[in-house]
Amino acid sequence: MKQKSILIVGSNALDTIVPPQGRREDVIGGSTTYAMIAAGKTCPVNIVGVVGTDFPIAGKEIYQKYAASLEDLKSMEGNTFRWGGSYHDNWDDRDTLFTELGVFADFNPILSPENQNCSFIFLANIHPSLQNNVINQAKQPQAIVIDTMNLWINTARAELKEVLSKSNILLINESEAVLLSEVEDIITTVKILQSLGPDIVVIKKGRNGAILFQGTDRIKIGAYPVKNVVDPTGAGDTFGGGFISALARDGSFIDALAQGSAWASVCVEGFGPECLLTVTEAEIEKRIQFLKQTVIS
Ligand code: AMP
Repeated sequence: MKQKSILIVGSNALDTIVPPQGRREDVIGGSTTYAMIAAGKTCPVNIVGVVGTDFPIAGKEIYQKYAASLEDLKSMEGNTFRWGGSYHDNWDDRDTLFTELGVFADFNPILSPENQNCSFIFLANIHPSLQNNVINQAKQPQAIVIDTMNLWINTARAELKEVLSKSNILLINESEAVLLSEVEDIITTVKILQSLGPDIVVIKKGRNGAILFQGTDRIKIGAYPVKNVVDPTGAGDTFGGGFISALARDGSFIDALAQGSAWASVCVEGFGPECLLTVTEAEIEKRIQFLKQTVIS
């Protein structure tokens, strides 16, 4: 049987990461990069996105290695999307230093026939109008999973609501869920988010794990106990890639939560995506088995 492909649209970026000590520039990142690496080890992953002429060869090599199709990854004259983030001492709080859309500002993809027929779509974090553009071209999606962030909740709420109305599963941080729903109580928040479209809402709680809500049913999973957090950038996107790849392989929601959390725990152990690139299958499997023991449903 042909394996089901996942279509990912999100940012392809060069990041500036400012930890409590030090600074790194031009780290290959973007929501798509993180999600692609986590999903691409076990599923065929097709990419929709755009990079500028400054995107380095090392970045292109990562895409060539982890993606099954780069037909809809375009290269345009201009700068790659750039994002800068500065972390507080606790590593939990982060300030965005800048977001420069670069070539994404004029990106209007027309999907290849193969990509129009992908059954699993991950709308990783990017402007909702681009997420909408992609799902409007999808012919028969089986599952549309969406992630977003505070910038788009604040600046593109109407477009985001339109995307949510067509999506099945929302992955969102706890603080962003509160921002989007405009209520503090988590049960009411989830009900409001479900009323916007997605039947399933996954609230990501960082070191406190995640909770999946389907109607009023819940599945709670813990976080893998990482000894040394080096850089949490991209953990949410990595979670999304692991999550959707389990679903595309006909896994259960518990499999999806465990796979997403296992990959996210690896992500935070290195700068940018570096640990994702070197982790072994055995290590991921060990973490998945550990995480499954933490599930409460
Ligand atoms: P996370 O830490 O999971 O929020 O993901 C950080 C990654 O998302 C970085 O690699 C950034 O390039 C990318 N990113 C940050 N802000 C945005 C944005 N507004 N739209 C799309 N991608 C973004």
